[in-house]
Amino acid sequence: MKKIIQDYTKEELAQRIKPSFRAKQIYNWVYHRHADSFHEMENLPKALRAELEEEYTLHPLKMVSRQESRDGSVKYLFELHDGHTVEAVLLLMKEAQYHEDGSLKHHRRYTVCISSQVGCKVGCAFCLTAKGGFMRDLSAGEIVAQVLEIYKDRGIPSNHRVNLVYMGMGEPLDNLDNVAKAVRIFSDMDGMSISPNRQTISTSGLSSRIEKLGAMELGVNLAISLHAVDDELRQQLMPINKAYNIASIMEAVRNFPVNQRKKVLFEYLVIKDVNDDLEAAKKLVKLLNGIKAKVNLIYFNPYPGTEFRRPEPEDMRRFQEYLLSKGVLCTIRESKGLDISAACGQLREQNLQKGAEQ
Ligand code: SF4
Repeated sequence: MKKIIQDYTKEELAQRIKPSFRAKQIYNWVYHRHADSFHEMENLPKALRAELEEEYTLHPLKMVSRQESRDGSVKYLFELHDGHTVEAVLLLMKEAQYHEDGSLKHHRRYTVCISSQVGCKVGCAFCLTAKGGFMRDLSAGEIVAQVLEIYKDRGIPSNHRVNLVYMGMGEPLDNLDNVAKAVRIFSDMDGMSISPNRQTISTSGLSSRIEKLGAMELGVNLAISLHAVDDELRQQLMPINKAYNIASIMEAVRNFPVNQRKKVLFEYLVIKDVNDDLEAAKKLVKLLNGIKAKVNLIYFNPYPGTEFRRPEPEDMRRFQEYLLSKGVLCTIRESKGLDISAACGQLREQNLQKGAEQ
């Protein structure tokens, strides 16, 4: 089987391909010029191009479906070399804006949500990915290629500023080495130059791995899927809480090196009549005491077969206002991609079902 070229950092490529300056040229072709084949890489000698073609692939992923939402989000399903599938979502955060004289004020702003594993071991009750079980980790190249394919598909120039969130299928800290490598490949100045402070690793709260990630000093942002403020409810929603309870997560977060201008993001999936009351909001404020935190309230997106329901907008607002009144930065996440069911795991699930019906 051919090796995946995106699996290698520039330094690793320089070790493998001599003379070593070729690594920089290859990076340029792969990440800036979005080459489709090694034969296109015209500043490399013909013999080297043939060797590369023989040994490596530029295409670890095949796009098998793409759904566009009315709000501009696009959800992708990619097939891997072994037939497994993973999802990634392009979220349009802001349309381009222009000055009165027609000059560009700012480009369209995108966030790309990427997967780190096929399936997931964590088993959250509200998650479709969890229902499919765990298959395998993605390699660094399979993580990187999701973004590369999306750039190519949408014609996004390589110098466009995007934000990345490791929040698709899988628990990124359960695949920490490959995720850390992907962070380095994304941020290489000769590659996509996506600075680590525009990359956010979102975890279900594996405390010991949060500490390990902190010790790596990658400079990435951290997001915690908290979703509940007491262990009993959290355990029900996220069985992983048995191994890593709320207190251990908070301890790990307090020790995490946070970029001076950044905050740790706490994701709180609001489920009607489960965790949407003021009591929960009060406990949350207490838990976050002393942490540079921002809370993101997320509407639960119901999917077929779930017992959980979407919260009422008034309850969301009341929750948010309480947090704001206590000085905790809090936003409500719009349900981007709602009409294409963009919660993690849902597109893949639909496709598997389609496959089963055929
Ligand atoms: S929500 Fe995330 S961590 Fe939880 S089971 Fe789904 S993919 Fe895994």
